[in-house]
Amino acid sequence: MLYLDNSATTQMLVEVKEAMLPFLLEEFGNPSSKYYSLAINAKKATDKARGHIAKLLGCDSDEIIFTSGATESNNMIIKGIADYYGQTNKHIITSKVEHPSVLETCRYLEGKGFTVTYLDVDSYGRVNLDKLKEIIIQSPPLLVSIMWGNNELGSLQPIEEIATLCVEHNVFFHTDATQVVGKVFTYMLNIKGLDFLSCSAHKFHGPKGIGVAVIKKDRNNLKTKITPLLHGGGQENDYRSGTLPVHNIVGMGKAAELAWINFDQNVEHLNSLEIHLRSILKRKFGDVVVFNSDDSDKIPGIISVQFKGINNEMLIKNLAEVVALSSGSACSSSKPSHVLQAIGLNTEGIRSTIRFSLSPIVKKEELDIFNQL
Ligand code: PMP
Repeated sequence: MLYLDNSATTQMLVEVKEAMLPFLLEEFGNPSSKYYSLAINAKKATDKARGHIAKLLGCDSDEIIFTSGATESNNMIIKGIADYYGQTNKHIITSKVEHPSVLETCRYLEGKGFTVTYLDVDSYGRVNLDKLKEIIIQSPPLLVSIMWGNNELGSLQPIEEIATLCVEHNVFFHTDATQVVGKVFTYMLNIKGLDFLSCSAHKFHGPKGIGVAVIKKDRNNLKTKITPLLHGGGQENDYRSGTLPVHNIVGMGKAAELAWINFDQNVEHLNSLEIHLRSILKRKFGDVVVFNSDDSDKIPGIISVQFKGINNEMLIKNLAEVVALSSGSACSSSKPSHVLQAIGLNTEGIRSTIRFSLSPIVKKEELDIFNQL
């Protein structure tokens, strides 16, 4: 079966598994313990992984906070900022196309007295910078949280421009980078004003249940203060207590190392796969297919396509033995997509939309399967 649902999750690489195995069995020490070799080895391994992830994300190692994944990172960052600074400012700006772990966190905060502005998006899912600027000036927020790239459409947001606006108006800026790590150059040092980032290892061929919240030092190079989601033994610089899952951290580190080493090659391959897939679909289905995704300024390898007059669930079900596809996000598959609604699709358009999400381990000739359907 051809797996084309890589936005939902990816297959772990063999190298990642090999790196993890010793830490599931022999090397079982707790990295917070001291003096004996099992503890020291565990600490060394987590430090090494932290280094690889920091290199990929372009931040300092001590700005990497391990979490269980992007859902937790999004919750931790948004709630942590809201709780710590919410006495002085209760306004948050986000967009209508965020992942539920951002949107539901914002809704929860609305119940606690916060005002949340949900920005509209254009037909490809991008926010309007002038509108954002207008709202920031009208009612300066505590936090702007806008995803780097969208999980259903693949569209990229103007992250650098948003970060500049946030610096100019002294606003915290968080981005959910879950879908872009390893596919887009996510080097935070190059983007002044990007304070917080979330991601999950399983989206770039690492293990599930591990992710990162990047909490940049503040603009005076001091520790940024937010309220921790988990209180306890003070691990992860007091931001996130709990014994570190060493095997998962080592796996994420290996996946990050490989994503960094193979970055250019992977992006090139994803782009060529996408061009090939688009042309097969166009040739085979003609006017029946309408692309919801832009063909530039996007995450390579994610495309959203309407098959006019065809029910997406039926098509996905019928193809399930040969190819794994989805209608959109695995996280909210029972509801009509809020992302497709936000870009202006009607019910019919939403019901005929399928997301193809490729990965660097897909081979070009494997896509020829669509010629035979
Ligand atoms: N943000 C985005 C954009 C995502 O696509 C996902 C996963 N679908 C998440 C956050 C949540 O990631 P996880 O399920 O690994 O916590």
